[in-house]
Amino acid sequence: AKEAGKGKYVVFDPVFLQAFNERVHLEKNLRQALTRGEFTIHYQPQLGVRDGHICGFEALIRWNSPELGYVSPLSFIKIAEDSRLIVPIGEWVLEESCAFAKRLEDDGFGMYKIAVNISVVQLLEEDFVSKVLRILQQTGLAPECLELEITESMIMETVDSLVPKLNELKAFGIQIALDDFGTGYSSLGSLKQMPITTLKVDRTFIEHLPEQDDSRSLAKAIVLIGRKMGLQVVAEGVETEQQMQHVRRAKCDIIQGYYISKPLPEAGIRELLRSYRPQ
Ligand code: C2E
Ligand code: CA
Ligand code: CA
Ligand code: CA
Repeated sequence: AKEAGKGKYVVFDPVFLQAFNERVHLEKNLRQALTRGEFTIHYQPQLGVRDGHICGFEALIRWNSPELGYVSPLSFIKIAEDSRLIVPIGEWVLEESCAFAKRLEDDGFGMYKIAVNISVVQLLEEDFVSKVLRILQQTGLAPECLELEITESMIMETVDSLVPKLNELKAFGIQIALDDFGTGYSSLGSLKQMPITTLKVDRTFIEHLPEQDDSRSLAKAIVLIGRKMGLQVVAEGVETEQQMQHVRRAKCDIIQGYYISKPLPEAGIRELLRSYRPQ
């Protein structure tokens, strides 16, 4: 402890200090990562249950820092949000992802949906809608092929100010998914007011399938809510054949998870699409 004035002490907790220093260090590296080209994007296939074909992809950012090594988005997205670095990083992800989907189309693979994670920090930017429209125009991707994923817990805090914006995006044909659904405690009433097209059932509801009775009925109930509201329902984190059968039976529209494929770089996706046989 160090004396910091009359009768006051500042306690330097070494654990806290270390965590703080790591955070500062990470942020410093994050600040340069975009211009130094350290980010890449992996794409995870989504399977349409009805016809067994791949119908789209979720874009997931990857950071390979020369200094820090591979850093998971789970550790840097929050810091990117707090420092607002998520605004340029997120814009880059959106541009790259739309260009990726358009390239697949141009190269004869067909039209696919591309789902991009959007932070509420980005969504709250005044020019967010015009940025998205500019990117669609520049890449030539149809608005119907773009889905913006917004985390349930984040949107509910700011829902009133965001509804008009989401409505505007939706009116252009852009799809809006509520991500990690079931973890954010939104009421059914507020869900009804949300201009969304898609529900992504959180992995926690899938991971104990089929062993636990309560997770079985919970997963079913969530899918039913989505369907009753006329939304597309995506099950994420499907890892096993049994989980696959369960979400199929619960009438999910789309399945995503390691059972179908891990997130892959573009070359891996092209390979997969070339060799893919409908399941
Ligand atoms: P999320 O949006 O819920 O993405 C799903 C995460 O689950 C991804 O982790 C994915 O790799 C992982 N996953 C997919 N299938 C399975 C499975 O079958 N089993 C298990 N155990 N995991 C599976 P990832 O790529 O590490 O991303 C973590 C989170 O970071 C994402 O969660 C998302 O919230 C955030 N994130 C990733 N990329 C971006 C981005 O470009 N922008 C923003 N704002 N956030 C991003
Ligand atoms: Ca997501
Ligand atoms: Ca999710
Ligand atoms: Ca998540």
